[in-house]
Amino acid sequence: MISRRHFVGTTAALALGGVRMPELFAQSQDLVLVNGRIHTMDEPRRVVSQVLIQNGRFAEVGNRVRARGARRIDLKGRTAIPGIIDAHNHIVLVGNRPGWHTPLEHVFTIAEAVAALQARSAAVPRGEFVTTVGPVAANQFAERRLPTLTELDAVNRPVYIQAAQGGTRTNSEGKAWLEARGVTVGADGAIAGPALALALQALRKELLTPETRTRTALGALDYYARLGITTHRDGGAFHVDAPSGGVANENTYTMHEPFLALHREGRLPARMRLDFLHQDSPAANPPLPTLGPRLRNAFPFFGDEWLKTGGIGEFTGGGVDGLRAIARAGWRAEDHALNLAMVTNEIKDRETVNAEIPIRNLRWIISHIPEFPVDLANRMNAMGMGVLVGWGPLRNGTNVGPPYRMLMTHPIRKGYHSDGGDITVINPWLNFYTIVSGKNLIGQPILGDQTLTREEMIWLATAANKWFIEEDDLGSIEAGNHADLAVLDRDFFTVPDAEITRTRSVLTLAGGRIVHSDLPLPA
Ligand SMILES: [Zn+2]
Repeated sequence: MISRRHFVGTTAALALGGVRMPELFAQSQDLVLVNGRIHTMDEPRRVVSQVLIQNGRFAEVGNRVRARGARRIDLKGRTAIPGIIDAHNHIVLVGNRPGWHTPLEHVFTIAEAVAALQARSAAVPRGEFVTTVGPVAANQFAERRLPTLTELDAVNRPVYIQAAQGGTRTNSEGKAWLEARGVTVGADGAIAGPALALALQALRKELLTPETRTRTALGALDYYARLGITTHRDGGAFHVDAPSGGVANENTYTMHEPFLALHREGRLPARMRLDFLHQDSPAANPPLPTLGPRLRNAFPFFGDEWLKTGGIGEFTGGGVDGLRAIARAGWRAEDHALNLAMVTNEIKDRETVNAEIPIRNLRWIISHIPEFPVDLANRMNAMGMGVLVGWGPLRNGTNVGPPYRMLMTHPIRKGYHSDGGDITVINPWLNFYTIVSGKNLIGQPILGDQTLTREEMIWLATAANKWFIEEDDLGSIEAGNHADLAVLDRDFFTVPDAEITRTRSVLTLAGGRIVHSDLPLPA
């Protein structure tokens, strides 16, 4: 049972705006939502107008539920969907960023970005860094570039933006701080080459404490709750022992601590599912120096509904021997594939292992799969494996995949992931825009004829992801399931393509608790 402590200290100050929850709403309570267009994503894909929520779960779903004295929220015709499950991202990396991390995935011009940074700086002590490291991209802005030093000087704090795509920028105050530490900064605030690693390393070394990590982890989860994500499955990081200059690097033995702290305090606004990334060399002697102890000493799927361990991924490490060890231990395994050669080899290795130790019931996964012909889908499906797809809005080229349309008509298990946090964005609506319209963030067609309908898109990011988190009572609005749901600020199913990127949630529920609301709520 979650207590009201869940919300004490939660800042609602992030750039998306919103209001602090009235005290009455802090606890899970019976709610009835009425007058909605509620896309349930249940098996007949019903669209209903009402849901009753009791004890954190959907109790009734339909057009005439019994209110039974529950608190009533009128959705006034708004569209609602199940809480989004991002079945593989790098939220744990994002939660460990140095400085006052300021998510910027919902702004689309330089002026909006600067305004969001200015709004954020009001809550930041003088002289302390306002930062955005990872899930932001030059191509999301109309100007197709990051803000310059001069533009960032409108923010009255040192600023540091390191984008997944489009470079790294600071302002005058940030430049002075970084130059004092030997980091070369261009006159326009750009940081590149070896200076970049030095800059991020210095920020991590001097700014990170357990308290700042916990603050950033909570801020990131709150932010994505405002975009409708209620479950994150984390794909890990590259292990380093000391503060590193690599954006995908963290100490993989300690980086979960801020999330564990939030969980301990009952303050997680979204569900966390944590996989363990391993990179042992196939030639290591003794073999499997990190994967072996993990499989012997840890537990897969251990935890509770808010935070749970998962499997090994998104790298398994150790070559075929690593896969054998994982199969023998009965764990889930996931690797990503960046091209056709890579996914072909990965499938061959899994066929080798599967011939010795059947993996059919272990739900092994390959993610990204940009190029993926149907014969590979057949071979993976024959082993009971699934594919995670997404990873698109920053990509260039024609027919860069994955082949969403082919997969939708294929029996193989498929689900949605952003893979965002270090090399791309997490904002689901930027990803959905690409998958539905076929266009990247600068409007170039990249998917050929492989786009999805909007209904398929939401299904892929909700009900289809049940299989990937191995939980049946999340991902659809059905009686008995956890009451995770997002009420959208526009009708995703009918708005013009160009409006999809600006979609956000005006009311997000996780386990029946209001974790975000812009709606006027009855006291
Ligand atoms: Zn990943």
